[in-house]
Amino acid sequence: MKRIFKLTLMSVLAVFLLAACGGKAEKTSGSSKDGGDVLAQIKKRDKIVFGVKNDTRLFGLKNPNTGKVEGFDIDIAKQLAKQILGDENKVEFKEVTSKTRIPMLNNGDVDAVVATMTISEERKKEVDFTDVYFKAGQSLLVKKGSKIKGIEDLKKGTKVLTAKGSTSAINIRKKAPETQVLEFENYAEAFTALKAGKGDALTTDDAILYGMADEDPNYHLVGGTFTEEPYGIAVKKGNQDFVKKLNEALKAVKDSGKYDEIKNKWIKQQ
Ligand code: GLU
Repeated sequence: MKRIFKLTLMSVLAVFLLAACGGKAEKTSGSSKDGGDVLAQIKKRDKIVFGVKNDTRLFGLKNPNTGKVEGFDIDIAKQLAKQILGDENKVEFKEVTSKTRIPMLNNGDVDAVVATMTISEERKKEVDFTDVYFKAGQSLLVKKGSKIKGIEDLKKGTKVLTAKGSTSAINIRKKAPETQVLEFENYAEAFTALKAGKGDALTTDDAILYGMADEDPNYHLVGGTFTEEPYGIAVKKGNQDFVKKLNEALKAVKDSGKYDEIKNKWIKQQ
């Protein structure tokens, strides 16, 4: 009886041990999930997983015909992969929004975020950034003929639309404290709401608004820019070697003239 009990106990222990080992092996297989060295994991899997926008014309927009994402951020990400892994196709793109990009980075769902993301002191507490790779500024998009000509016209009773998790939402509350701010999951939803007459203006970076004006010429930018939005590539904290690699790659892309080529392809208004 005693012997049977001992045997059972041993097999239960063995099952536990196996399960524990199995769990760990699964966790460490080629994702950044367990917070280890992101650069080492990228090299091991021979691919960089980038978080990019899928609904932002000119920067990261999914082409419904091909299913592929296209834009300035996408082309920059491919060039970074070319510099780091020797092949611009060694990339995987996952959709992020302004709201999800920091959690997805910190969960290990993506290795780096290239998604119209402003380098800010607040965000630096949560993630690390590379050097600036693009300079934008916040502005306003309105229907042509609108009475709103600039930020000074955003008075009590006006409604401004923007996206959750953006610096745009924070800035507009400071710059036009009387206006009502409505926040959407992403900019595609915000623009749809503007077109449906649910707001008087849409606010975010001029570079993103140009993409919307390009899509629907009934809308235009007014009043110039009222903030500075320097874009950086975000990486999970504690990966200085990866940030350094990305900065070296960015410099090489700029030095080779490839950066200007990509910028001229996507950004017409400069
Ligand atoms: N660049 C601003 C930001 O990082 C606005 C654009 C966006 O939401 O991605 O919040």
